[in-house]
Amino acid sequence: MADAQTFTPSLNIATLPHPAPVPGASREQAIADPGFGKIFTDHMVVVEWSEAEGWHGAQLGPREPIALDPAAAVLHYAQEIFEGLKAYRLADGSMALFRPEENARRFNASARRLAMPELPDGLFVEACRALALADRDWFPKVDGGSLYLRPFMFASEAFLGVRPAKEYKFVVIASPAGNYFKSGAPAVSIWVSADYTRAAPGGTGAAKCGGNYAASLVPQAEAIARGHDQVVFLDAAEHRWIEELGGMNLFFVFDDGTLITPPLGGTILPGITRDSLLLLAQEEGLSVREERYSLDQWRTDAASGRLVETFACGTAAVVTPVGRVAGEDGEFTIGSGGPGQTTQRLRERLVAIQRGTAPDPHGWVKRLD
Ligand SMILES: *Cc1c(COP(=O)(O)O)cnc(C)c1O
Repeated sequence: MADAQTFTPSLNIATLPHPAPVPGASREQAIADPGFGKIFTDHMVVVEWSEAEGWHGAQLGPREPIALDPAAAVLHYAQEIFEGLKAYRLADGSMALFRPEENARRFNASARRLAMPELPDGLFVEACRALALADRDWFPKVDGGSLYLRPFMFASEAFLGVRPAKEYKFVVIASPAGNYFKSGAPAVSIWVSADYTRAAPGGTGAAKCGGNYAASLVPQAEAIARGHDQVVFLDAAEHRWIEELGGMNLFFVFDDGTLITPPLGGTILPGITRDSLLLLAQEEGLSVREERYSLDQWRTDAASGRLVETFACGTAAVVTPVGRVAGEDGEFTIGSGGPGQTTQRLRERLVAIQRGTAPDPHGWVKRLD
């Protein structure tokens, strides 16, 4: 692991003692088959912001409920943003984060869009590091396991007037996670939403805010009700161009070695997995393009065989092949309907870097200890 960079802490987070951590035997039982987002660790990091004091009172302490005034602005006007990143265990047993500065940068881009205060990048990364190390015993020993970190920020000020709040909390919690898919990734089936859009030009599509997810739940439920796994959204203006899933970016693989993904531009969430795969695909010799791709073309190219694979990507499930696409006017299959070779290859390359079993020429892996 000569390539992994050592992390340098830059800001002080006070550590409070934990009076009653979960007993070892119960913890081991909980992390034996953790699933995703169901169980949580002993600790949390909390940092407060006020107009008068800025960021202050950073502490790592026992995980506990957060007391909120019923008039807290987040409960009314949804000033809330979040991030999602994983702490991995490298081959030599040490812990690492994957490109956490990118999460910090995106968090601040989301904060700006939601009229929230920015957090120093160093504090964001240090909070993640401190929590991952404090709860390292919660790291699941299952194959493909990780400690999923969820940093988030919300408006805590008690005030019902409509304006940016003057008090916020930044919190990081951690959740042991198993492999999203037990053995390799099965191909998912996706539903093209005809009635709903995820993001409009000028809206909040590029921000990672809870509100985007709230708005995607009805179309996602519709996809499930129709027997599919995920919903895919088209652009709001023409309802023609493919954008992304509720929480994952999309890539299209062609028989001539071209790889296309929809361009960023305000309505697509700039995924860090997306960004990493763009570079890895180029290094693999694929001809990579960020370009609009329409639903009609997708259907035509899948039928002609020009389009050979489609995959979705994001931190939680890494790379997920798409096997079937359905909408109001029928459905089509992609390639064999199962995981394709390019999808598998890119997934394996990315996972190998994240887990420290392959060289890390871009310095993406940040060792925590
Ligand atoms: C978080 C997210 C992604 C994936 O981003 P990663 O940084 O790769 O985890 C994609 N789309 C949406 C809507 C998201 O919220």
